Amino acid sequence: MEAFMEQAYQRIRQSATVITHAPARTLPTQGNLSAARDSLPKLSSADYLSSNGPEATLDHLLGIIVPALNGQNRSGRYFGFVTGSTLPIAEVADNIVSAYDQNVAVHLPAQTIATEVEDAALKMLVRLLDLGGTEAWEGRTFTTGATGSNVLGLACGREALVSGKLPEGAASIGELGILRACMKAGVEEIQVLTSMGHSSLYKAASVVGLGRSSVKDLPKSDAEPWRLDLVAVEKELQREGVASIVAVSAGEVNTGRFATTGVADMKKLRQLADRYGAWIHVDGAFGIFARILPATSEFAKLRDQVAGLELADSITVDGHKLLNVPYDNGIFFTRKSSTMTSVFQNPNAAYLSAGGSSEIQSPLNIGLENSRRFRALPVYAVLMSEGISGLSEIMARMVHLARGIAQAIRESDDYVLLPNADADLEDTHVIVIFRAKDDSLNEALVKTINESAEWYVSGTKWKGQTACRVAVASWRVDVERDLELVKRSLATMAEEHKKSRS
Ligand SMILES: *Cc1c(COP(=O)(O)O)cnc(C)c1O
Repeated sequence: MEAFMEQAYQRIRQSATVITHAPARTLPTQGNLSAARDSLPKLSSADYLSSNGPEATLDHLLGIIVPALNGQNRSGRYFGFVTGSTLPIAEVADNIVSAYDQNVAVHLPAQTIATEVEDAALKMLVRLLDLGGTEAWEGRTFTTGATGSNVLGLACGREALVSGKLPEGAASIGELGILRACMKAGVEEIQVLTSMGHSSLYKAASVVGLGRSSVKDLPKSDAEPWRLDLVAVEKELQREGVASIVAVSAGEVNTGRFATTGVADMKKLRQLADRYGAWIHVDGAFGIFARILPATSEFAKLRDQVAGLELADSITVDGHKLLNVPYDNGIFFTRKSSTMTSVFQNPNAAYLSAGGSSEIQSPLNIGLENSRRFRALPVYAVLMSEGISGLSEIMARMVHLARGIAQAIRESDDYVLLPNADADLEDTHVIVIFRAKDDSLNEALVKTINESAEWYVSGTKWKGQTACRVAVASWRVDVERDLELVKRSLATMAEEHKKSRS
């Protein structure tokens, strides 16, 4: 078995190695996709679920399945969604996680260092993101991603808001359930106030029993719908019998813009939340990493827009996006670990007890899962390897490429920069949206770009019109080379379109 493993790892590396002069395709060929599809086990075949053994299985995986995967990790120009990619040290750490298969459920300091590594990584993240002292974020854990963290955020907000209206120490939602606890507390409605909140916020609202329709969009204006209207927020907070969670989009996933413009907005929100007893949740999945951009003038505006986020009650961060660790990885922070245990306590299981008292909570009592993967290790490895300066440099490169693309589009005769053509380039973080001026070129644009397999974009809508969305999210970004390719590709598409019509 040892020889098999050694050979297997070698072959995986050979197959996944990126050759610099021949960058990876962003998408597999249609031929590879159908070959893989045809190779999937057929219910009707006589050898369905027969035993093939590890060697033949490895040949199948590397020869047929792998060529039909997309290049999101291997190409620096997979600009779809916000996928991120994987730093080599993170991939190595992730393989260690698999090799040692630690179950990070219970804090067992005499038996494994795993929970302490998790805690160390979480503390390093608090410092990296400059959120203040680690004692100010006593509730912290790893999740499956920003959706998971948003579920935790709404669950904690809901718990704290309702128990705040009950006598000190009285049982709240975690114990009584949402109906009984709200009745006792005189809460008739729990609402989530946001501006262009991520779709997962609506899902989270459904999961924790608030309902998707509890999420209210309060855009500052038609021109800047990602900005949160603080006047409207205050009006909502004044409603009798209603408890409110304010969900700050930092940043908004379609445009990359931010709900607040600076520390003054966040201070105002904090004052309002304290006055009316609301909870502030920041969805900072990818946007919060603007806080680690170098403190130079070119990033000053962005850094302002993420200033003050540390005034929140809970924060969502994604690991598998800009931090470039593998799926799945998210982080959640909140002020008090007791809010998390009120919701996630796994009670009455004596055999799962950690015994003794410790500053480190057993993960099974503060998060969704009981058994789970050692999610912290790739994050820990990236933080150890890159440090603040290395990560800051990677983030700066992502922003430089996004701004280069935004500028090229702004200067082009064939394309229009969105959400506004004359936007300040200093507002661009890692997301750029645009459309072609010619409608028929515009309709075909996403497909044409993606079929080239040289770069990959997401299709989106802006103000009802079809648009293209670029999200730069990989450490592999090479600003000069990638910008050159994107510019050439945009120019060629416009030219060929004109030729085809003349
Ligand atoms: C991507 C994203 C999410 C969802 O994150 P997953 O990691 O896919 O669960 C939530 N909020 C924002 C702002 C995002 O960008």
